[in-house]
Amino acid sequence: MDFRKAFAQVKHANKVRLAAKIEKVTGIKLNTKSLFDVQIKRIHEYKRQLLNVLHVITLYNRIRRGEKGITPRTVIFGGKAAPGYWMAKQIIRLINDVASIVNDDIAVGNQLKVVFYPNYEVSAAEILFPGSDLSEQISTAGTEASGTGNMKMALNGALTIGTLDGANVEIKEEVGDENIFIFGLTTAQVVETKASGYKPRDYYDDNPELKQVLDMIASGFFSVEEPNRYQTIVDNLLDSDQYLLLADYASYIEAQDKVAQLYKNQEEWTRLAILNVANMAKFSSDRAIGEYAKNIWHVNPHASATGKSS
Ligand SMILES: *Cc1c(COP(=O)(O)O)cnc(C)c1O
Repeated sequence: MDFRKAFAQVKHANKVRLAAKIEKVTGIKLNTKSLFDVQIKRIHEYKRQLLNVLHVITLYNRIRRGEKGITPRTVIFGGKAAPGYWMAKQIIRLINDVASIVNDDIAVGNQLKVVFYPNYEVSAAEILFPGSDLSEQISTAGTEASGTGNMKMALNGALTIGTLDGANVEIKEEVGDENIFIFGLTTAQVVETKASGYKPRDYYDDNPELKQVLDMIASGFFSVEEPNRYQTIVDNLLDSDQYLLLADYASYIEAQDKVAQLYKNQEEWTRLAILNVANMAKFSSDRAIGEYAKNIWHVNPHASATGKSS
């Protein structure tokens, strides 16, 4: 009990430090009691920052409809796009456009804030990882070789919402199924869905919340001065959707709803966060390098590293 309290205090102090940094850099003032939902990594279609944006707009619509009991949330994005990667830059622009509409809407108040943290780099990461409650690891199954941000997050006491992709699979094995939020198609199901003629538009037609979100983006709701700014993004999702965002949308929203529900119980949330940290030993760099030394390099530790005097 005292330990949980101390752990929660450390997390909160790290969120306060992050919020101060964000206010300094962006001018956005955050509610440090809100759920800090963080996706920091290179901007790439396969990493699906766009799926996260679809969830943000879904939450925004629920708030605008007057839905009660929304868990206050701060969604933080950070990451760079490769210089010639036009679509990734569009995604960054959309995040910023959505942020400015949501953050300035007085009907939203403290329930939702959206931040694009500029110039994500290691020194930013040092403040962002410890200040995170929720780790977004939502790449399409079969696309991420491993990921290391997922490990840094769990080690720093964030719970993961993620697909069965890359090292998320091993994190799930270590922390236990009940201490992680897994959603979406598996690698085999992704292959199967594509092989059987994936039609993203069917998901749009069948899901009113998803339809509303895509219609808003297409109508220029977030880009009034240039209404067709995101036409390519929307057309792409409806007509090809190579990374199956629409197929995973419903499952992602359902997992996010579970996250929001759990966060209302701070005692339980903290218990899971502690279990995440406690079960991350496997991801130690000492273990990784020790295995390389033994199995690949075939070298023995130097006497100075074994604690024995030479
Ligand atoms: C860990 C890290 C990454 C890699 O993040 P992934 O989520 O594994 O893609 C990229 N940039 C910085 C600054 C990092 O610290």
